[in-house]
Amino acid sequence: MIELECIDDISNPGNFALHEVVLNEIGSYVFIKNRKGEYLYANQLTLELFNTTIEQLVGKTDDAFFHADMLSDILHSDKMVFEQGQTVTNEERTRAKPDGKLKIYRAIKKPIFSKVTKEVIGLIGVSTDITDLVHMRELLTEQANTDELTKLYNRRKLWEFFSQSYHAAKLDQLPLCCIIIDIDHFKQVNDDHGHDFGDNVIVELADIIRHNLRKTDCCGRIGGEEFLVVLNRTDRDEAYQIAERLRIQFLESSLNSQHKPFSLSCGVTQLNPGDNEFLDLYRRADNALYRAKHQGRNQTFIE
Ligand code: GH3
Ligand code: MG
Ligand code: MG
Repeated sequence: MIELECIDDISNPGNFALHEVVLNEIGSYVFIKNRKGEYLYANQLTLELFNTTIEQLVGKTDDAFFHADMLSDILHSDKMVFEQGQTVTNEERTRAKPDGKLKIYRAIKKPIFSKVTKEVIGLIGVSTDITDLVHMRELLTEQANTDELTKLYNRRKLWEFFSQSYHAAKLDQLPLCCIIIDIDHFKQVNDDHGHDFGDNVIVELADIIRHNLRKTDCCGRIGGEEFLVVLNRTDRDEAYQIAERLRIQFLESSLNSQHKPFSLSCGVTQLNPGDNEFLDLYRRADNALYRAKHQGRNQTFIE
């Protein structure tokens, strides 16, 4: 910790050891490198991270201080500064050798120009550890996209995926289908066995859907006991078979065998040339579901 000097005249800020104080108390890693990437300077925090001294640091490059497999972000932003002669701000994921922990830094790197040749001869960098902040950001994003009970996508995220699938399928003239799944007489299930058991049934169905998904599919919970599956590159026959597989697996699920059987109904549809938005498919699948319910439930209807 650097102490402020004792001074006679506070009106002149130049009297403070201002640079020293700022560089060592700022809580960020500050460093200067030449065009070859060799360190010329680093503040105290950086020296502590590297577990080195200024004398040992000078002349060394980042491979001395970071794990080789995690150097690419640093080298990439250095290269951009050197080649473009502009300030670069980005996120760098890396692991310093002494503690070996994966950290995420917000790095700002400014070019240093030669007065004579006007060329970039080095850079000055300020890196701030934002690992906790990024993890919080990722958690919030995940929470914003996830249904809490089933851990499937929620409606918001599913709509995003569905919309992208719709536009991609239209553009490339590929088949696209969707299935709406709704548990039959679910109110009765709750009434007969309690709300907690009802929740377990919803989770059980979510697991069945999840296990049947292919890499290109996507599913989510769009309402209480209602799910939607988006099937990219899938024609209606295949979609029908998938819906039927889900229906039968639900009938045969372990929760179901212990109680009065409960079932689900599915509405299936495929992308039609006349569709104008992904919601056209959704509405058609919902109509199909209504027909499946109307015809006696525990079945799949295609429209
Ligand atoms: P249908 O065969 O026509 O679909 O009849 P249904 O009783 O399943 O349909 P309805 O939509 O009338 O009722 C759905 C019920 O689902 C009502 C509500 O109490 C229950 N429900 C909604 N969300 C949850 C939940 O998160 N957990 C539980 N246990 N029940 C829920
Ligand atoms: Mg229902
Ligand atoms: Mg319902």
